[in-house]
Amino acid sequence: MTKDAAKPVILWFRKDLRLDDNHALNAAHLSGRPIIPLYISEPEAGAGPLGAAQAWWLHHSLEALDKSLRQRQGRLVLASGEALDVLCALIRESGAGAVFWNRRYDPLGISIDIRIKQELEKQAIETRSFGGQLLHEPSRLMTGNGTSYRVYTPFWRALEGASEPEPPLDPPAKLRLASELAKSEPLESWKLLPMKPDWAKNFSDLWTPGERGAMERLRAFVEDALDGYKENRDFPAKQATSMLSPHLALGEISPARIWDATRGLSKRVSAADIVQFRKEIAWREFSYHLLFHFPKLASENWNDRFDGFEWRNDDGDFNAWCRGLTGYPIVDAGMRQLWRHGWMHNRVRMIVASFLIKDLMVDWRRGEAWFRDTLVDADPANNAASWQWVAGSGADASPFFRIFNPVLQGQTFDPDGDYIRAYVPELRELGAKYIHWPFEAPRSILAEAGIALGQTYPKPIVDHASARNRALAAYNATKDTASTRSSPRRAG
Ligand code: FAD
Repeated sequence: MTKDAAKPVILWFRKDLRLDDNHALNAAHLSGRPIIPLYISEPEAGAGPLGAAQAWWLHHSLEALDKSLRQRQGRLVLASGEALDVLCALIRESGAGAVFWNRRYDPLGISIDIRIKQELEKQAIETRSFGGQLLHEPSRLMTGNGTSYRVYTPFWRALEGASEPEPPLDPPAKLRLASELAKSEPLESWKLLPMKPDWAKNFSDLWTPGERGAMERLRAFVEDALDGYKENRDFPAKQATSMLSPHLALGEISPARIWDATRGLSKRVSAADIVQFRKEIAWREFSYHLLFHFPKLASENWNDRFDGFEWRNDDGDFNAWCRGLTGYPIVDAGMRQLWRHGWMHNRVRMIVASFLIKDLMVDWRRGEAWFRDTLVDADPANNAASWQWVAGSGADASPFFRIFNPVLQGQTFDPDGDYIRAYVPELRELGAKYIHWPFEAPRSILAEAGIALGQTYPKPIVDHASARNRALAAYNATKDTASTRSSPRRAG
């Protein structure tokens, strides 16, 4: 063994807080060198500062990873600061000769990683980066012309036709950890948890952050809900989706592990359900593909026709939306689900986003930022791509003129009103007939249900029909320049 080969390798965890199917960890293990597992709290990681709800998740996820490493006679080293400074200091302190990591695909992360590679290589420190956060590298799935996909369906066909994703790697049975070579900061000093008030107190009723929680979610979903997923996934009162998104957002589980769990089920799950679920995983891939090729996805309209859109941006409307006090029950239930559990059902995300952008004419970027701060699954690619999709400004977006009617959406996807009752207690006693439009209910029925509109529950802050016309007029006033922005990237 050469002298360098005996030097420790720093395994830099980022949004890949797992031991399972972790390519960088596997390579570090196979190198035979002692491993220093490190997590850095970077001042500006990913798409801007860490949202408050995801900070709660991160705290518990780091604890879980540390626990797994302690079971293997090591621990997670925590350090804060600019990543390059932290790595250089740790290399000096520990005598490490290499740094391994799994790639990230957000623009800021990519630029930081490229610089780190260059700087460390100048110091003769080996750097190696790996895939595994996506099923396929974004540069791999390209159109026949060598350009990136802008439309989901051909992207899906390409993904389906590509070679199967590599089977997931099991975690190494034994690890040679050398955590003692580095000092660690106490996790509490990062103050990731809310204190006064503890607005996240309900989160742990629903969530178990960490790799074990992720595996348990996957197992339960495949056993109980995958069969019937295609039909049930649009109904927010049913527990019909995997709820894996927060685990995926911090990389506690890999997409390859999820994909692999959908193999060999044809005896008890219909092919249509499996394909539909895989298609959703492919939406995540597509969002990353877009972010990689259009790095300003979270800040600029992908379609610059929307640059001239005259947003109203009324603060009162925005605040009523954030607090779930718009007078439209399905919107309010969604926004309160978000506040209570840091998560919202996909159908309801589409409804609340359409309402904010189109009925209230608030810039989609304000909605994106609110979601980023309040979602435990806040994801730089999925969040930005989805907001632009609803706005109509994104790649392969829903057309602007498709404006959801919040009453009809509620009646279709929550016909009995059970979802509303779970999150809007003021309306609990109202029957299914009026629960999606209490403003149309006769006074006697409202009185029987203990509702005084404008007092116990708000009157609608806008009239949907007029708001719809207002939005369409604003849209028609923008000019169709038919051009889009682009800027190719490379992951570090
Ligand atoms: P499942 O139905 O079980 O799907 C499995 C996985 O597929 C999800 O965990 C997710 O990784 C992926 N997926 C499913 N639907 C989509 C989609 N439409 N776009 C991209 N990936 C998808 N998802 C996030 O992970 N983070 C976000 O910040 C986020 N913001 C959103 C904002 C808006 C306005 C909208 C309309 C959607 C957003 N989504 C976001 C997408 C989607 O709502 C969530 O991924 C989904 O609700 C998560 O629940 P699940 O894990 O039970 O999904």
